[in-house]
Amino acid sequence: MPKTKQEIESANKEYVKSFGNKGSLPMPPGRKFAVLTCMDARLDPAKFAGLVEGDAHVIRNAGGRASDDAIRSLVISHKLLGTAEWYVIHHTDCGMETFTSEVMGDLLSQSLATSSVDETGWFNNVKEGGTEEGKYINWLTIEDLAHSVTQDVMRIKSSSMVPGDIPVYGYIYDTKSGELIEVSAASEAGRTNK
Ligand SMILES: [Zn+2]
Repeated sequence: MPKTKQEIESANKEYVKSFGNKGSLPMPPGRKFAVLTCMDARLDPAKFAGLVEGDAHVIRNAGGRASDDAIRSLVISHKLLGTAEWYVIHHTDCGMETFTSEVMGDLLSQSLATSSVDETGWFNNVKEGGTEEGKYINWLTIEDLAHSVTQDVMRIKSSSMVPGDIPVYGYIYDTKSGELIEVSAASEAGRTNK
């Protein structure tokens, strides 16, 4: 069996042993909030925001961006599962700051293999077997973190499916210190308006 698969299955056996009474947790998040954040492996929302099983929804994608699909999850989170406040958390040293949609489209057009990065930017080691499909996608890359958090809060708040009484707060997580730093312009844009 592949090493990682074995490790996951063995870790899960340990988890099951100490699962306790979590099987009786209700589906709706107990603390009635949702977090939208980046998939970055260094971020552990349960730890940095003090969550345990059953507390909150955590929606993750590349960048923690307010994509159509992130908004789909947030709307379900409120409409069907009762969350009443949302937190958008981007972070320092995000991979989404290291390329543009054009760069990603070009990289994929050359090859599907994992690219490398140096001080001049991303490049392909393999140059065959690519696809043009990536050129049709907005990869929602990030130029400026405070701006991206504020833009995403504004996009969420402006959705006709999002009621005005849900506050949306914006933060940047510092990957060097673990600190959450509120972006006041974002939280201001996310204030309740009902
Ligand atoms: Zn990231």
